[in-house]
Amino acid sequence: MIFGFGKGGRDYDNDDDDDDEDDDLDFILFKGALNGNNPDLAENGRLVQAGLLPAKKVISEALARRADTIRIEPKGKVAAISYLVDGIPFPAAKMPPKAANAIIQMLKLLAGLDITNKTSKQGGAINAEFDDVKHEVRIDSTPVKGGGERLLVRVQNLKEKLETPTDLGFSEELRTKIGEIGASKSGLMLAAGPPMSGVTTVSIAMVRGIDAYLISIASLAELNGRDLPHVKEFEWNEGDDLETTIRRTKRSDIDVVYVDPLLKAEDVKPILEATEDQGFIAEMPAKDAADAIVRLVALVGDAQLVVNALKIVISQKLVRLLCRDCRRAYRPNPKLLAKVGLPTDTRKLYRAPRPAEDEDDDDDFCETCGGTGYRKRIGLLEVIELTDEIKKLILSGADADAIRKKTREMKMQSFQSDGIRLVGEGKTSLEELQRAFRT
Ligand SMILES: [Zn+2]
Repeated sequence: MIFGFGKGGRDYDNDDDDDDEDDDLDFILFKGALNGNNPDLAENGRLVQAGLLPAKKVISEALARRADTIRIEPKGKVAAISYLVDGIPFPAAKMPPKAANAIIQMLKLLAGLDITNKTSKQGGAINAEFDDVKHEVRIDSTPVKGGGERLLVRVQNLKEKLETPTDLGFSEELRTKIGEIGASKSGLMLAAGPPMSGVTTVSIAMVRGIDAYLISIASLAELNGRDLPHVKEFEWNEGDDLETTIRRTKRSDIDVVYVDPLLKAEDVKPILEATEDQGFIAEMPAKDAADAIVRLVALVGDAQLVVNALKIVISQKLVRLLCRDCRRAYRPNPKLLAKVGLPTDTRKLYRAPRPAEDEDDDDDFCETCGGTGYRKRIGLLEVIELTDEIKKLILSGADADAIRKKTREMKMQSFQSDGIRLVGEGKTSLEELQRAFRT
C-alpha cells in the first residue's frame, strides 16, 4: 500500500459510460467561475463530454483523501496525478495524456480561462460545493516544454479558511502589539517566509489586526478578491511610481498602507523613508524572520534606515498535527528531553505509528488520517521585535545567526520554541519538527 492511497485506487479510463458512477463518492459541484466569466458549456459539448465527469472525480477523490492540492502533469508518455495531503506529496494515479488534457481544459473552462491559449500561464478559480460546504477551487496552468500544460489545483474549504490573527494562533500579546503599531501610524510590519509558506496569509492577518474603524487602511497591492472590509483598494495613476503613489495616499489621509512584496531596492527605499508618519505592512521572501532583516539591510544598504523603520517581523512555518486517533505514546529519555529543551520529568510524548505497525494488522488502518499518522496543519510562529538590543545588533552588522541567538536569549517566540511547546502538548512529534525544519 502506498501511504494509504492503495485503498480504492482506480484507473481513469475516461470512458464516459453513464453507469460509471461511484456510489461511495460525493461529487464536487461546480458553481461558476470566480472571475464571473462563466463559460458556455453547450458550445464546448465535446470537451464537457470528455472532461467534466473525470475532472469532478479527480477533485472529489482528492478531497475525500483530505488532499487540498492536486498536480496534473505530463510525464513522458503518461500524465501523472499527485496530491498534497498536509503539504506532503503522494502519487495518486496515471492516465493517458489525452484524458489528462481533457481534465485540464475542462477545469480551465470552468474557471473562466481561455482554453484556446495553451502557451501562456493562466490562473483563475471556480466556486464549488463539496459535502454541502462552500469551496474555492484555484486553477493555475503552466505550459511545459515540448507541448502540453501542467495544472496546479488548490482547493480551499471556505468554512475552514484561516485568516484572522486568532485563526493563525497569534497570542494575545502579539495581537495587542500589532494593534499598537498600527495605531502609531508609523513604521513597517513585515511578514517573512518562503513562497507557499502562508506568508501572504500572515501579512493579511497583520492588516486584519489593525482597528479599521479608527485607522484608515489602503492597499496598493492586488487583494485577489480577498474580503477585507474597510480596506480601500487605492487606485494607481497611470505612469506614477511607488514613491509618488505613497505621497498620494498620504494626502488622502491614509494611515497604514499594505504594499506588494518587498523585492527591489528602488521600491523598498521610498517605503522605509515614508514610515516616519505612515504605517506599512508588507511581505518579503526569506527563510525566517532573522534572514528577512539581514536581507532587508543588504537590499537597501542602510542599516540605520532599516532600524528606524522596522517594528516587527513575523514568520510562519507549517507543521502537521498528529492524528488523535492513532498517535502512539512513548516515554522519552531524559537526555533527549534536555537536548530539545523540554522539562526532564516529562513522562509522555507522542509520535506517528510506524508503517510496519500498520502492515502487521490491516484492521489497524486509521481512516481518520488515511494511515499517514497526521491530520491537518498548524503554523509555528516566529516573532522578532525590534527592541533596542536587536537594533544595536543590526547596526553592528550582525548576521542572521547572531540575530537568532540574541532572540533566543531574549526568549522571543521562535519556530523552535513554538514547535517544542506543541510536542510537549502532544500535538505534534519531534520527527515532524525535524522534517519541517529540514525543508
Ligand atoms: Zn490516524
